[in-house]
Amino acid sequence: MRICVLGGGVIGVTTAYYLAREGHQVTLVERRENVAQETSHANGGQLSYSYVAPLADPSVLPKLPKWLFARDGALRFEPRLDLRQWRWCLQFLRACTRAQSRATTAELLGLGFLSQRLIHEIVDQEAFGFDYVRNGKLVVYRDAEGFAGARAQAAYQADLGCVQHALDGAACVALEPALAHIGEQIAGGIHTPGEEAADCDQFTRGLARAAARDGVAMQLGTEFLGLRTKGSEVLAAETSAGKIEADAYVVCLGFQSAALLASFGVQVPVYPLKGYSLTLPAARAPGAPRVSVTDSHHKIVYAPLGERLRIAGMVDIAGMSAHADEARIALLARQARETFPEAGDYGALQTWTGMRPATPDSKPVIGPTHYRNLWLNTGHGALGFTLACGSAKLLADLLADRELPLDAGAFAPNR
Ligand SMILES: Cc1cc2nc3c(=O)[nH]c(=O)nc-3n(C[C@H](O)[C@H](O)[C@H](O)COP(=O)(O)OP(=O)(O)OC[C@H]3O[C@@H](n4cnc5c(N)ncnc54)[C@H](O)[C@@H]3O)c2cc1C
Repeated sequence: MRICVLGGGVIGVTTAYYLAREGHQVTLVERRENVAQETSHANGGQLSYSYVAPLADPSVLPKLPKWLFARDGALRFEPRLDLRQWRWCLQFLRACTRAQSRATTAELLGLGFLSQRLIHEIVDQEAFGFDYVRNGKLVVYRDAEGFAGARAQAAYQADLGCVQHALDGAACVALEPALAHIGEQIAGGIHTPGEEAADCDQFTRGLARAAARDGVAMQLGTEFLGLRTKGSEVLAAETSAGKIEADAYVVCLGFQSAALLASFGVQVPVYPLKGYSLTLPAARAPGAPRVSVTDSHHKIVYAPLGERLRIAGMVDIAGMSAHADEARIALLARQARETFPEAGDYGALQTWTGMRPATPDSKPVIGPTHYRNLWLNTGHGALGFTLACGSAKLLADLLADRELPLDAGAFAPNR
């Protein structure tokens, strides 16, 4: 089959890779001059297969006013005259039920475990490096209530196959000595020894080379402009380099997916949640963590990537502009420095802004649309690197109409 994959982030590239391995003739269209130049470029680097619980959870409701109005909050809401923003927020609030949060956790764990198995295959089979490390992940809590909630979540997830351990504050510091500076403040932590970290940009570029080796035509520097349709069929993708005719089209356009498809009657419940990352070069042990750490209090993640430390956080619900807010970046840097003051030279920080393509229920949208040959693989929010391989494989299996590794209905566009 001739398949046109639209978008060259981690989702589009993994999709192209798995489709090419099935023998399809794949063309990937990306407007930038290289892959992974947008949200997949400098994200948190966490392969967080066991930390997939959705943001939409009843426990966030009482915290929302504080998060939204605190000056130093990790979450910031800037109201816009944009129906999509308000619709997304309402759908998010509606998803904040215990039953839905639990069901989503189970569904995303299934997709996460599938992704982990597939990343291990790539590590074994492909030659490129991407600063991949199996270093475990420690989520630390600075309040007893948060720690109690995390223990309850870990107990629920244990029945779903997760191996996680609750540690007290002293045990957290013993496991990751770089936490010593805030040791007194730590109420406890959840440690997941099997978690991994890696560089999403290097992974995506390496996999794009592997996909090209397997026959994928990379049309970089090419902008997707729209679809040419007839009835329930897509006839061609219109691009800045002319039309591309294929038997099937897969949309992996990240946070742009909704806007680019709306005029074709395809509703994609994706809205951007802006975030920031900092990269500390030459991060030195023992001042820099070697375990991936999440500081639940500030909602900041830390991952060692080779000799660098990647620091990521902040959620701004603030419209479609990827403009970098220097005040938010300064806040992130200050909180990181207060947590790991001896991790490296904070004067040499590299900064980055990215737009998480988020759905209200935190689940990606994978599957067919009302056009018989138009498919979606998008909406991976804060977990696109973690879930990329499983999502791409699921999409390839759906397209082939073969037996599926998990219940695809959970991720169906019309769920
Ligand atoms: C601060 C931050 C930290 C994060 N940390 C983590 C983490 O630790 N672990 C994790 O798993 N995930 C993390 N994520 C989430 C992850 O980065 C995203 O889910 C993932 O990158 C989304 O990939 P994508 O391919 O869907 O989108 P993108 O990477 O944005 O790719 C979409 C592509 O489509 C292209 N495109 C758009 N419009 C057009 C057009 N008209 N024509 C042609 N091409 C077009 C874009 O140029 C882009 O390359 C983080 C995100 C942020 C912002």
